[in-house]
Amino acid sequence: MNAYEMALVQLRTAAKYLNLEDSIVEILSRPKRELQVSFPVKMDNGKVKVFTGYRVQHNDARGPFKGGIRYHPLVDINEVRALAMWMTWKTAVLNIPYGGAKGGVACNPKEMSKSELERLTRKYTMMISPIIGPYTDIPAPDVYTDPQTMAWIMDTYSQLVGYRVPAIVTGKPISLGGSAGRSTATSRGVIVAAKEAAKAFKREMEGLGIVIQGFGNVGANAAILAREFGAKVIAVSDSKGGIYNEKGLDVFEVLKHKERTGSVVNFPSAKNVTNEELLELPCDILVPAALEGQIHKGNAKNIQAKIVVEGANGPTTPEADKILFDREIMVVPDILANGGGVLVSYFEWVQNLTNLYWTENEVNDKLDNKMRDAFLQVYNIAREKCVDMRTAALILSVGRVVEAMNIAGYFP
Ligand code: GLU
Repeated sequence: MNAYEMALVQLRTAAKYLNLEDSIVEILSRPKRELQVSFPVKMDNGKVKVFTGYRVQHNDARGPFKGGIRYHPLVDINEVRALAMWMTWKTAVLNIPYGGAKGGVACNPKEMSKSELERLTRKYTMMISPIIGPYTDIPAPDVYTDPQTMAWIMDTYSQLVGYRVPAIVTGKPISLGGSAGRSTATSRGVIVAAKEAAKAFKREMEGLGIVIQGFGNVGANAAILAREFGAKVIAVSDSKGGIYNEKGLDVFEVLKHKERTGSVVNFPSAKNVTNEELLELPCDILVPAALEGQIHKGNAKNIQAKIVVEGANGPTTPEADKILFDREIMVVPDILANGGGVLVSYFEWVQNLTNLYWTENEVNDKLDNKMRDAFLQVYNIAREKCVDMRTAALILSVGRVVEAMNIAGYFP
C-alpha cells in the first residue's frame, strides 16, 4: 500500500462515521490541483541535471493551502498527494484557518553541495511560483529542507514579484521574519501530545522510557524536550541505524557524536540496534519521527510501547492501526501529534502579516494550549465513539472541512 492508498483508506473510514455522501468522498479523495515540474540545475561539475518536483494542493475550503516541501530520493506524486491530504486534516484538527498542500523534489540532498541545493531550490521556486503566494499557498520545511531552504524560497519569490514577501513561506530564519520557537515547534507539540497521552493512562512523564526513530529536526528536538519534561530517552536512530541504553542516553552527547561521525550509530555506552529492532524495544512511548509505513502488519504485533506518538507523517499503516487498537496501544496520530509545526507556522504567518512579533514564551504558551485542547477534543471523540485516536481525529477534521465546503457551496 503506498502512502496515498493509506490516506484514502483513512478517509473512507472517517466518511463512514460521518455518513458522508459518495460525491463528497470523491471530492476529498482527489487533490484540487497538482503541478508537476521538470527543471534543469547546473551542478558543481559543470554538468546539467534534470530534477522532477511537485506541488499538490489538496483542499482550501478552510483557508489558503499550507504545507511543507520535502527533498528526498523517494518523493513521487502519490507520496506528495498523501502528504497534502494529511495537511488538510492536520490544519483542521488544530482548527487553524488553512487548507492542505505539499511539495517535493526527488533528489538526494545528502549528495549535493550547498550551492547545488540553492540552485535547485531557487529553480523549483520559480517553477511553482504561479500557484504559491502569501494568500494562496504557503510552503514550509519538511524532510531534508530547513530554514536556509525557506530563506532561498522567500528571496526568490520576492525577487520575482519585486518586493519582500516574508509571508510567502514559514519556517524562515528569525532574521528574515521567522518566528521564535518555530524550529522546535513540531517536537514540542509531539512531547506535549505524549504528556497528554500519558495522563490518559494516569502516568506522568517523569521517568517514562521513550524510543525515538529518526534524528532529524523532529526526532532530535523531541529527544531534547523529552528529557526536559523528565522522561528518559532510551533509544534513538537515524537512517544508518539506532542505539539503545535502557538506563537512558545523554542526548546532548549523542548529538555531538552524530556531528562528529555523521550518525548516532556506535555511540559509546550504548548498544547498536537496527531500525527494525528499535521499533520493537520495550518502552513506554514510541515516537516514529522518520518516514511513512514504518509500523506495518508485519511488526505491529511486536510493538511493546503503550503509546505511539507519530512525529512523522504516515508512519503507521491502516492494518497496523487495527492491530495496535486491538492490543490497546494508543496511537496519537500524525495529524494531531506533529501539528505543532504547522501551528507555529500559522503563528509565524500571522506575525508576518501584522508585523508584530511575539516572544518565544508567548509562542510556546499558545502552542501548548492549542495542542492540549486539540488532544482533549480528539480523545473525547475516541472515548465517546469507541474508536482509535486516528479515526477520532479524522472524524473531527474531515467533519470541519466538509462543513466549510457545504456552507461555501459548489459554485457555479
Ligand atoms: N512539514 C510540516 C508538516 O508536515 C510543517 C508544515 C507547515 O508548517 O506548513 O506538518
